[in-house]
Amino acid sequence: MTLRRVAVLSVHTSPLAQPGTGDAGGMNVYVWQTARELARRGVEVEIFTRATSSADEPVVDAADGITVRHVVAGPFEGLDKRDLPTQLCAFAAGVLRAEALHPPGHYDLVHSHYWLSGQVGWLARDRWRVPLVHTAHTLAAVKNASLAAGDEPEPMLRQIGEQQVVDEADRLVANTDAEARQLISIHHADPARVDVATPGVDLDVYRPGSRQQARAELRSLGVDLADDETVVTFVGRIQPLKAPDVLLRAVAPLIRDGRRRMRLLVVGGPSGSGLARPTALIDLARELGVAESVTFLPPQPPRRLAQVYRASDVVGVPSYSESFGLVAVEAQASGVPVVAANVGGLGVAVDDGVTGTLVDGHDVDRWTAALDATLASPEAVTRMGEAAALHARRFSWASTADHLLDSYHRAVGDYAAAQRRLDDAARTARSAAVGATARTRRW
Ligand code: UDP
Repeated sequence: MTLRRVAVLSVHTSPLAQPGTGDAGGMNVYVWQTARELARRGVEVEIFTRATSSADEPVVDAADGITVRHVVAGPFEGLDKRDLPTQLCAFAAGVLRAEALHPPGHYDLVHSHYWLSGQVGWLARDRWRVPLVHTAHTLAAVKNASLAAGDEPEPMLRQIGEQQVVDEADRLVANTDAEARQLISIHHADPARVDVATPGVDLDVYRPGSRQQARAELRSLGVDLADDETVVTFVGRIQPLKAPDVLLRAVAPLIRDGRRRMRLLVVGGPSGSGLARPTALIDLARELGVAESVTFLPPQPPRRLAQVYRASDVVGVPSYSESFGLVAVEAQASGVPVVAANVGGLGVAVDDGVTGTLVDGHDVDRWTAALDATLASPEAVTRMGEAAALHARRFSWASTADHLLDSYHRAVGDYAAAQRRLDDAARTARSAAVGATARTRRW
């Protein structure tokens, strides 16, 4: 069967939002990039997301073949992510009403992202009689097993919700083999229903280039980066899970020992508890006596972010948990080695010793040593950067979309076969009942 149109559910965060702050991150990029690739292959994508501003148009023609529908569910602003489950009924109603305006059979499939969307997708699937494909992106049980000190655990409510969605979805799409294994071992997913679609990177945007030129371009925009500085960069949401404080503590002794002129560049905005308060990292830099050598930048759009990567000597990704880690792949695609925590998908994203370094745990001294060793010689940094750019070419959104489409086709085929079996069974039951009635009449 040819897939014509897919309903994509992304309840808590819009693919049109700037990633790198609040709830907007890799999932937004994933939803947007895969929608672009599906649309290129002739599959129309309608993305449902919660309206978070009165200025959000109900329907946005976001690109050729991609429509974003803003569903009103709860207040536009000020609704904490933890309170979103209270709005799932309103969101589901908005999704079902939008579909009801079309003739039956408008969507061939529902693809939900994150467990909140999975809850809505489950209802839509039953109502529309089309298969539900679900991508969890992160799992509460995995996140809770490696929390940063003082970080709030994910509530039981989410774990229950994730289990329900795993049980209900027709197919599950994991980011990595490891995540597929977690779905099977933690949530008892049927291995035959789990597919893997590794995320990609936009190689047109994130590509290697001159470090000097990138620094000059950023300087012209007011970002203070000298040519003779060794720049370590953090990119992402400022929250305990991402551990920018670990990177800051690890870089501080290298800044203080004065062997190289060093700078830490931190790009992103607060998210969740935002490390207790938005200024926590600035205060920490002051406490460590390195405030003058740390530059903070608000979230940057992709082309500017690519300049930031190219301007860096190394990018640090010290997360406590990471289902994949797009930042690690984008940095490598930009020709920059990555020092990353050996957790989750980062073990797939970084080729240890070749394109960067994987560090076990979050011991600050170990992180300082890993950064120092990676930066030991400019030639080694260049060599690793070149290997990193080659390695990153393995990850493309086109390939992610191909795997998604395979999963969609399997879901649609299995669903149709199951429907046929149900119809046959109903027909058999009906004719048995008719036969029984006829026999009764003869008696
Ligand atoms: N990002 C961005 N601008 C920023 C910071 C981050 O566009 O200033 C994007 C980044 O390019 C990446 C995503 O946010 O694609 C973060 O994804 P990742 O998988 O690294 O982390 P997540 O946010 O999913 O936990």
